[in-house]
Amino acid sequence: MHELSLCHAIAGVVRPHAADREVSVIHVRIGALRQVIPETLTFCWDLVAAQEGFDGARLEIDPVPASVSCASCSVTSDIESRYSTSCPVCGSSEVSVVGGEEFLITSIDVRSASPSAASSSAATTPERA
Ligand SMILES: [Zn+2]
Repeated sequence: MHELSLCHAIAGVVRPHAADREVSVIHVRIGALRQVIPETLTFCWDLVAAQEGFDGARLEIDPVPASVSCASCSVTSDIESRYSTSCPVCGSSEVSVVGGEEFLITSIDVRSASPSAASSSAATTPERA
C-alpha cells in the first residue's frame, strides 16, 4: 500500500526532529497529483504511529491543488483532475505541471516537556546561622 510506505517515510523524517519529545500533530502538505487518499493516509498513520512510537500523534493534511502553467496563453491555473492536464483557459495541452507534486512535512507540534519547574533556588539555599 502506497500510503503505508509514505507513513513510514513521515515517521523517519519526524523522528530526528522530535528527538525525545512527544509529537502531537504532524502537518503534511500533499499535492493532488501524489495520488494520496487522505483518509487512507490517516488510517495507515495510526498503524505506523503505533509501531514507530508516535502514539497520540495526529496527521494534519494540507491538500495542494494540482496546477498547470500554459505555454500557449501563459496562464497558471488549478486543474480539477490529474487526468485532464490541459489548460482550462485556452484548452491547449502545451502545459507543464507547476503544483500538486508536493509531499512535505511543513511542521511538527510537540507537547512541551514538563515545564522547567525545577527551582533554580535549590543551588542557592541561604544558610542561616
Ligand atoms: Zn492556455
